[in-house]
Amino acid sequence: MSTASLPPQSSSASGSPRATGSSGSSQSTRQSAISAVTSYASRPQSIEFVDTPAQDYYSTNVFTKSVMKDRLPKETYKTILKTIDAGEKLDPALADVVAMAMKDWAMEKGATHYAHIFYPLTGSTAEKHDSFLSPTSDGSTLSEFSGKQLIQGEPDGSSFPTGGIRVTSQARGYTIWDVTSPAYILENPNGTTLCIPTAFVSWTGEALDKKTPVLRSMQALNTQAQRVLKLFGHSDGAFVSSTAGPEQEYFLIDRHFYYARPDLLNAGRTLFGCKPPKGQEFDDHYFGAIPERVLAFMHEAERELFKLGIPVKTRHNEVAPGQFEIAPMFESANVAADHQQQMMQTLKKVAEKYGMSCLMHEKPFAGVNGSGKHVNWSLGSSSQGNMLDPGDTPHENAQFLVFCAAIIRAVHHHQGLLRAVVASAGNDHRLGANEAPPAIISIFLGDQLTDIFEQIKGGGAKESLNSGTLTVGVDVLPPFPKDAGDRNRTSPFAFTGNRFEFRAVGSNQSIAGPLVAMNTIIAESVDFCATKLEELTAGDSSKLNGAIQTLISEILEECSSIIFNGDGYSEEWHAEAEKRGLLNLKTTADALPSLKAVKVEELFEKYGVLSKVELHSRLETYLEQYNLTVDVEANLAVKIAKIMIFPAAVRYQNELATTCTNLKQVGIEFDTDTLDAVTALVKELQDSIGTLEHAMADENAECPEAEARHQCDVILPAMLAVREAVDQLEGIVADDMWPLPTYQEMLFIK
Ligand code: ADP
Ligand code: MG
Repeated sequence: MSTASLPPQSSSASGSPRATGSSGSSQSTRQSAISAVTSYASRPQSIEFVDTPAQDYYSTNVFTKSVMKDRLPKETYKTILKTIDAGEKLDPALADVVAMAMKDWAMEKGATHYAHIFYPLTGSTAEKHDSFLSPTSDGSTLSEFSGKQLIQGEPDGSSFPTGGIRVTSQARGYTIWDVTSPAYILENPNGTTLCIPTAFVSWTGEALDKKTPVLRSMQALNTQAQRVLKLFGHSDGAFVSSTAGPEQEYFLIDRHFYYARPDLLNAGRTLFGCKPPKGQEFDDHYFGAIPERVLAFMHEAERELFKLGIPVKTRHNEVAPGQFEIAPMFESANVAADHQQQMMQTLKKVAEKYGMSCLMHEKPFAGVNGSGKHVNWSLGSSSQGNMLDPGDTPHENAQFLVFCAAIIRAVHHHQGLLRAVVASAGNDHRLGANEAPPAIISIFLGDQLTDIFEQIKGGGAKESLNSGTLTVGVDVLPPFPKDAGDRNRTSPFAFTGNRFEFRAVGSNQSIAGPLVAMNTIIAESVDFCATKLEELTAGDSSKLNGAIQTLISEILEECSSIIFNGDGYSEEWHAEAEKRGLLNLKTTADALPSLKAVKVEELFEKYGVLSKVELHSRLETYLEQYNLTVDVEANLAVKIAKIMIFPAAVRYQNELATTCTNLKQVGIEFDTDTLDAVTALVKELQDSIGTLEHAMADENAECPEAEARHQCDVILPAMLAVREAVDQLEGIVADDMWPLPTYQEMLFIK
């Protein structure tokens, strides 16, 4: 290990005192931020250069299977593996033994506490810490951690939103150990904590969290997938798991700018700001050389993630200046969802260390590309491998086509649900903004796959786009090339050669909701396919090909309107989608009510994923979150406009007016164009603030849904009107008087 030298850090590096105004010699907050950022003194002092090979620390902080194998009695280990790998019921009798081994392992790594980690409906990660140590009567201490403490905890989670499931008077909520997601050590300079991923349920057994439905939906998908596999002669029962690999986009800006922008600090996005003169037009940032400070950050973030057993694989610059992406290898959906939460936390934590803030809002800067999270999804098992890989043999192809058809049907039937699970105040600024998929849900298959499906629909695939003539029957389809080749970045749900990529997910979101939706709608469709094939074959496997032909034709007959391979950003697609009768739910207020559609209620209830009450609680919670977010933003917009922008504008107005008067006195004509423009904009600013305040006072609190409509139709447009005045003022007010760090400064000073 050696230390790379960076310039020394001065004491004024961070937390610069909040200076007032532009008068006198004191700097404005913005100017102090710029001086701090541009001075070397603000850079991290030294970066530890770690030359340990990655494989030496990979998973060192995880209670992995191999740690368990070393530390648990053979029988215990074997039994626990059955739960982890095959989804079998956990034997609670094992808990004491596992708890003991876990505690010893964690204490050897310096842990003093353990924490049940859970995932409330806010999409955040929650933790409750307890010490291993208990005092004894003789004044010493005992380290304790029983099976009961491992299996179940009772955090006082009564402040988390539950959408009406629990009233505070019966606020008991339990955290239950999820053995399928490995425990890990969280490091802190002052100690370490053993973290145990858990489900969070009410005392009546209702899911209060994001994890429980993921686990239930995985179980549902497995049950249905086994039926199709059986028809193809695979009866080994190996658990079919959904897999997920989320690509995370984020922005990095210097912390000094972050703290000088109350909107970023409180809302995660800028509510004001002109587009920078040089934006992303040159495409010189995308996949360009990664700036040194950022690369140093990435190295450390990846090292931390590796220690946690999170298999990060790729990193690169994204399209917008200051925007980056990180993607892990795929894992089973439940583990991927937990890891994704840890990934977001780790990126934020490590960025701080490097003097930067990591922004995960979907649209931190208007007019600049926003951030999403592509959730790559597939299903597979230990014996089948990836089941969305077309495979080399016709037999594999046929099975692949059945699953693919099931997915097409699922997306067609549940467009509204898929749109609802990516709905948030932040994502509304991104979806449909010519940088992200439109709010219309469609599916991209690529030319070759579309062609094959078209032929099946037309009575049997006879030829393929690539090779020779085929006879009727799906089992004689040619093997598909491994990489289907064509790509379509404009599709919200795209087949990418061996998986589907759900691209409409927001960068800030937990991926659990989208995974639950995908798993469940696909389970339902696979159920439909299995039932149909079972009926048509009636136990006679020689009838399978004909049955598949019939099944796929019928699905395509009904659902092919959902398939779209063209440009999802184009005007024509919006018109065409309308003609096809596809949903176009443009905003969260339009999309969330899909969660109360009867077919969605029936779907979740039938597969035991969410009861009606649980589903309704989610609708309530997400509406509430949307409403609160817009409230906070509107309050911030008024405050910033009133106490930062307005004073700057009138100071400048005053300076111009004074100049004008003074010059007139000595007989010099002064062109008042600028003064007039500032005066008009100041008026526009005052009026628009007034309108916004009025709209905010006119709260329509009838029900959360009505309130969401009001936020969407009245408050957000009123905020935009304020923004228009502010952004125009930014282009005219003297630079030294402008209080907020500009887009140019935040995005380009690294
Ligand atoms: P691209 O930018 O071309 O989409 P990346 O390499 O950035 O490719 O990301 C691909 C993502 O797809 C990774 O997160 C990877 O884990 C994921 N992925 C690959 N195969 C599967 C699979 N079978 N199931 C789920 N996710 C997958
Ligand atoms: Mg991708």
